[in-house]
Amino acid sequence: MPSRPRRCSWFVTILCGFLIPQVLLAALPPLGYTLTQRPDGDRLVRFGPFDPATFVRSDRVMVGPSGELTLEKTAGQFVTSGWVELARVVTNAPFDTVQLGAVEQAGRNLGLVYQVRFFDQESGAASSWATVSREGESSLSRPARSFQVRVLLRSDDGQSSPILRSVVVEPLTRIEPPFQVMPGVRATVPLPTLVKRSAWGALPPKDDYTTQEPNVLTVHHSSIPNQAAYAGAATIQGIQESHMTERGWIDIGYHFLIGPDGKLYEGRPEKALGSHAPPNKNKIGICVIGDFNNGKDTVTAAQRRVLVGLLSHLAGKYQIPTSSILGHKDTQDTDCPGDTLYADLPEIRKEVDSRISTAVSLR
Ligand SMILES: [Zn+2]
Repeated sequence: MPSRPRRCSWFVTILCGFLIPQVLLAALPPLGYTLTQRPDGDRLVRFGPFDPATFVRSDRVMVGPSGELTLEKTAGQFVTSGWVELARVVTNAPFDTVQLGAVEQAGRNLGLVYQVRFFDQESGAASSWATVSREGESSLSRPARSFQVRVLLRSDDGQSSPILRSVVVEPLTRIEPPFQVMPGVRATVPLPTLVKRSAWGALPPKDDYTTQEPNVLTVHHSSIPNQAAYAGAATIQGIQESHMTERGWIDIGYHFLIGPDGKLYEGRPEKALGSHAPPNKNKIGICVIGDFNNGKDTVTAAQRRVLVGLLSHLAGKYQIPTSSILGHKDTQDTDCPGDTLYADLPEIRKEVDSRISTAVSLR
């Protein structure tokens, strides 16, 4: 999952913050959002807890005591709709995709709609607003250096209001995948023993899944936690917690996770759209727990065996050619799944091909 730390950070503010004298910092207006460059390199822009500095413009919304955003109330009733334009974010390097997450409460008769617009890198011209799902992504045909988020709130009956606690946006850069989607071979390879969601203590998803038809298998490493930090089911719970609260996703982002002990954990259903490698559509995300960059961790024999078994099962089940087994870095500017695991992918593809050929010849 993690994106590559760059020599030149996307956000001048992060790197140069240390160089700006405190007196000058105090004179700067608040940004209206916070920037986090995680130790694994991912750059997250977070809006919320909200305050007036978070907004550029707003209409019929109010901020509650915990910095939550709701509709205004008049005469004991919530107004039926309102909106807010959040602070515009400027990055110091171009991006062509944003991934959005949100921590919200909505429900029957209540609604939250998210929209994003971009400002062209050269002309500065604004695009029109594009609606993005609560856990969704939006891509551009030309790189931009600035984006803005708008949120629309709705209450059909005025009895209660949607509540928005935070919106999280990750700007990133796509890479054209080095493959053509073509049918592979259908084969029945058994799924390795699976630790079901109920067995590892998964929280239920916060929203309905969007369906997909898998045609790409994307391999990730966790980076954080690394193998030394792995503690079985508690680690998978921790990853889910981080995805749902820090990222604002509706569930753990991956479909499968593989512990250093070779335990295979169930994430999202295979036919549910994931959140791991934008554009996520039709990709199954498999996270191998560890940090496989710069020789920090090594994929264990048990992990590798389960990875090959899982990839063979999925490739045979969905007729996915082994050329469509990708590392995360094949479709996004990131160092995931780490240099050693990435370098092993050609050999892993060969082993999957061999497993599928054997399964087909045994039919
Ligand atoms: Zn990844």
